[in-house]
Amino acid sequence: MKMDSLSKNEEFARVVVAVFASRLDPTLEELDDIKTAVSEAVTNAVIHGYQNGEGVIELTASAEGKILTVTVKDTGVGIADVEKAMEPMFTTAPEGDRSGMGFSFMEAFMDQVEVVSAPGEGTTVTMRKKIGG
Ligand code: ATP
Ligand code: MG
Repeated sequence: MKMDSLSKNEEFARVVVAVFASRLDPTLEELDDIKTAVSEAVTNAVIHGYQNGEGVIELTASAEGKILTVTVKDTGVGIADVEKAMEPMFTTAPEGDRSGMGFSFMEAFMDQVEVVSAPGEGTTVTMRKKIGG
């Protein structure tokens, strides 16, 4: 699914992934975790990737057995040092209300988070979670 980079599309993305994930019979807690992770990734694409400007965010969801995979892709500014960006409390926007915990939440709520990014080429976040354990 492709959507415009708008903060109001965060809710849209969360709900779409939640509906998709429901075929795997998740608990309400698992569903909440997935929604939170998707929300963090889409928010990052909107505010960091496209810096609140125009852009397209590509969202994919797939299931293999009980494993849900979600990807959130932007073709925005990209990240120079992914390892550093993923550290808890690291943020490049401390003047806003950002706390630098987005990636930490994604990692806490999903089983696996993979970030592929390069400056000028955008960012792809792939998250996996096994439903039911
Ligand atoms: P919070 O998520 O707590 O509001 P944050 O967005 O700064 O704060 P993270 O989500 O952990 O924290 O992201 C850390 C940093 O990684 C960001 O400050 C930003 O510099 C960079 N970043 C994350 N996602 C992207 C993206 N899609 N494009 C470009 N930079 C990104
Ligand atoms: Mg964030």
